[in-house]
Amino acid sequence: MERSGALIRDAEAVVVGAGALGASIAFHLAKAGSRRIALIDKHDLASQTSPRAAGLTAQVRKTDLMTRLAMMAVRKIERFEAETDEPLVYHQSGSMKIARTPEHHEQLKREVARGQRLGLGIDLVSPAEARRLMPFLDPVGAQGITYTPSDLYLEPVQIPLGYARAAARLGATVTPNTAVTGIVTKNGGVTGVITDQGEIQTPVVVDAAGAWTRLVAQMANGRIPVVPTRHQLLITEPIDGVSTAQPIVRVIDSNVYVRPEKGGLMLGGYEPDPIQYDTAALPAGFQIKDLVLDIGVLRRLAGTVVAQFPILREFKVREHRGGLPTMTADGRHIVGPVPGIRGFFVASGCCVGGLSISPAVGEVLAEWILTGKPPMDLTFLAPERFGVEYHLEEKLQAQCRWQYAHQYSAP
Ligand SMILES: Cc1cc2nc3c(=O)[nH]c(=O)nc-3n(C[C@H](O)[C@H](O)[C@H](O)COP(=O)(O)OP(=O)(O)OC[C@H]3O[C@@H](n4cnc5c(N)ncnc54)[C@H](O)[C@@H]3O)c2cc1C
Repeated sequence: MERSGALIRDAEAVVVGAGALGASIAFHLAKAGSRRIALIDKHDLASQTSPRAAGLTAQVRKTDLMTRLAMMAVRKIERFEAETDEPLVYHQSGSMKIARTPEHHEQLKREVARGQRLGLGIDLVSPAEARRLMPFLDPVGAQGITYTPSDLYLEPVQIPLGYARAAARLGATVTPNTAVTGIVTKNGGVTGVITDQGEIQTPVVVDAAGAWTRLVAQMANGRIPVVPTRHQLLITEPIDGVSTAQPIVRVIDSNVYVRPEKGGLMLGGYEPDPIQYDTAALPAGFQIKDLVLDIGVLRRLAGTVVAQFPILREFKVREHRGGLPTMTADGRHIVGPVPGIRGFFVASGCCVGGLSISPAVGEVLAEWILTGKPPMDLTFLAPERFGVEYHLEEKLQAQCRWQYAHQYSAP
């Protein structure tokens, strides 16, 4: 890793967290010409939730603005190697979404209308076409199916690692295994960060600490209402006939996704009663690799789609992994300046979509930091949109749980 290692003592900006979001922000700040950027992680680079993701994109989102951001991210993924000079393996096999109820069929029609209005290639396809695209799919019970040809899946670790390496080549100082333990403020503005390797003076700090976002925000007396929530996936042993060209399939009412991986199928999904975590209560030194997983959750989710994927009636598990994405009360990310603390920014509340959106979030937040305004209206992601009622932990957790359990269908 070029230019990594020793901490600098003063920086134009310090980015806390070298997962997908933090590494992308550091890269885009450096690319825009900032020379003294510090990207700091308390663990190895790209080692926590980001490398455990499924790596899927979903360009049609719940709002126009989220959809625009997700489309921008896919265009940046297509150009990732040219922009960063770092490798990125991706398969643009498209994605299908299946409605098994009349209500979800209506949702799909609205998604097609939104996508098409915003210039995204997306349409309803016939059951026969869906089966041609994904031979393991039996479209029995499908009331409607959409296909978005430009959706893709990628190798997750390459996004944060590629951005961190490219940021370092552009002059950023990238320092793994260094914990930020405090944020210094004066007269309502950030003046520095304290780490276990010493202090850095800086007027800008970006909290991209993933599951630890709230703990880092509290160091500056900030409050970011996110709830780390366990999310898991499995990969089956190789199955004859699986090919990388087959599309991602999502089933709305069961909140399950399936895609090809390592010659088998990857299956992940959103259970109705996910486990939420308070990272402050976890043992010191906790890492995502220590997270207790439960394959039973995934077997139950697989059971909800065996009519559509008969191959999942019986399968052998080759890999099982999970992490702690952060949920928000409205299912939208939290990106922007934290009110009341000048120079303190946040990029979190990934809602299990932070890896694929990180190329776009990094670019827009870097511009916001450097010019004082974002390149597009991002008020819908602003940290201050949550009122004081979300200071009530029980209410926040209930809303976040609901969003998770309705990942594919929440309005
Ligand atoms: C099973 C699974 C499947 C998923 N599938 C998808 C998908 O298909 N598509 C998608 O877009 N997203 C997906 N996600 C979500 C995605 O992984 C997250 O949105 C993304 O990784 C969030 O990135 P991050 O940078 O916020 O977090 P992280 O990758 O966890 O990075 C945060 C970093 O901050 C560091 N940090 C924390 N506190 C401090 C501190 N005090 N000092 C220094 N460093 C600190 C941590 O060590 C960590 O490295 C999935 C997640 C899981 C678990």
